Amino acid sequence: MALMLNGAGVSRGIAIGPCLVIRRDELEVLEYAIPRALIDDEVARFEYAIKKAQQQLNQVRQQIPVDTSPEISAFIDTHLLMIEDDALCRVPINLIRRQQYNAEWALKLQRDALVTVFDVMDDPYLKTRRDDVDHVVKRIQRILLSHQEQADDAIFQRARGCVVVADELSPADMLLMYQRGVAGFISEDGAPNSHTAILARSLGVPAVVGVPDACRYVLQNEQLIVDSRFGTAIASPDDSALTFYRHCIKHDQSRIVALKMLKGLPAVSRDGCAIHLMMNIELADEIELNKKMDADGVGLFRTEMLFMNRTELPDEEEQYQIYAKLMRAFKGCPVTIRTLDVGADKHINVNSLNDYSGSNPALGLRAIRLSFKEPQLFLPQLRAILRASALGELRMMVPMLSGMREVQQLYRLIRMCKAVLKEKGQRFDVAMKVGAMIEVPAAAIAASAFARAFDFLSIGTNDLIQYTLATDRMDAAVGHLYDPLHPAVLHLIQMTIAAGEQHGTPVSMCGEMAGDPEYTALLLGMGLREFSMAASMLLEVKDIINDSDVSLLSRQVSALLDLDNPDEVIAAVGALGKA
Ligand code: PEP
Ligand code: MG
Repeated sequence: MALMLNGAGVSRGIAIGPCLVIRRDELEVLEYAIPRALIDDEVARFEYAIKKAQQQLNQVRQQIPVDTSPEISAFIDTHLLMIEDDALCRVPINLIRRQQYNAEWALKLQRDALVTVFDVMDDPYLKTRRDDVDHVVKRIQRILLSHQEQADDAIFQRARGCVVVADELSPADMLLMYQRGVAGFISEDGAPNSHTAILARSLGVPAVVGVPDACRYVLQNEQLIVDSRFGTAIASPDDSALTFYRHCIKHDQSRIVALKMLKGLPAVSRDGCAIHLMMNIELADEIELNKKMDADGVGLFRTEMLFMNRTELPDEEEQYQIYAKLMRAFKGCPVTIRTLDVGADKHINVNSLNDYSGSNPALGLRAIRLSFKEPQLFLPQLRAILRASALGELRMMVPMLSGMREVQQLYRLIRMCKAVLKEKGQRFDVAMKVGAMIEVPAAAIAASAFARAFDFLSIGTNDLIQYTLATDRMDAAVGHLYDPLHPAVLHLIQMTIAAGEQHGTPVSMCGEMAGDPEYTALLLGMGLREFSMAASMLLEVKDIINDSDVSLLSRQVSALLDLDNPDEVIAAVGALGKA
């Protein structure tokens, strides 16, 4: 029977495919095939887990106080003996070798076989040994699952053409799945402005997030439809639903064809106001893909993806090569490269970095704060960006600045890097433009100072909204409070645009609000003249701009900004442009 699931839609598309459930919150053991060439590695992974489990139990045994009843240590000894028994430490290896099972699955099969034997025994004492088997097996499974980079990779190999249903997905997971051709995804966790969601949107992968208990409701391999426009999914759809959604996919495709007519045309309102439309790029892989797209340049290149899914930092040269590729691909257009913004929901696993997760990562050592703390991270990046500036109109942008002390520190480091490059005789643009993201309320309130200190500003609404409204952008439970139309948010945006106008400093917007057609008229009326968004949204936004009357919108928006009733604000935004 068909089952409907609801959450928040992340992009605009629809995906249909078999379901692949990936769950991490409990010891859920998945079965997957290990390629022949990797069998020895898988056996080594299993043997490591056995050894580690023995070490753990020996440690527990050593910590047992001397005056404790001998039964307690006997209990641990039993577990140790079980681990050393061929039934647990050899038979699974045979299964891995002969059947190409993953280690967790081989162990699970052997556990099931052992437990069946205990279950048919009459002796109640022996029956309790069954629990011992379970305890020991769980200990080994936990070790296997916590060393799961290899396992993740093998699971993600199966993502091709599937709709992945997961309890949680990091941007790094999303990236791996995209590279393996995932059709769409549903996650129990997350909100539409989490970095995982933004990445999905940018890559054009249909997704629905914040679907409670999704993993429990769907079955491995059953057919699933994801409609990210409305934040819905249908498990086991009937024929009429499948026909309907296949029709919708066709309709979307023809709308895309119609929008393509706008390609190459400038974004100019009916009353002659020219707008710069820029694109956000997440991945080096997208560079080639997007070269052909219809943007005036790159308004945000998120460099953090270069640092994900690896254990060593990319050095200056590796980064330079990627930035140079970007500059060449967008020759003649401005390209905005943002310095590293990791922390909070964007994890990196680089060995040489300390773990700064802190008690509240979104307010902790994130973005520029981490870059200042870790010069071996930041200085090579600054030098690589500076070197790439010799190749065209590069604008360097800095995330999460909150005050002028950071600004002074930033310029000191830039001067230092310029001096190093000069000494080495390496070329760079001495007048490379430097801009600040306005994504912390303090920066928006001090927008005049920022406008004086920088060559350009870019409003990061994803964070500006979360920090202004004290609403975690990742947390579906407070998703209803995450409101781009909150008067406080609109005033901070307005203040930033006004400060830019006053000081002759261009202001762009690169948060998700800029690429949401619902807000295009509002932002035009507020005076925004540069928008940066996922490439997939460019033509849709251009369509609205070209059909707008900006002077009418500015008059309507100044009245709208005085409203404080949320329903009236929504209604007024919906009515914008209607005379
Ligand atoms: C933002 O905060 O709006 C932004 C563009 O940065 P990110 O989403 O990468 O935090
Ligand atoms: Mg941000």
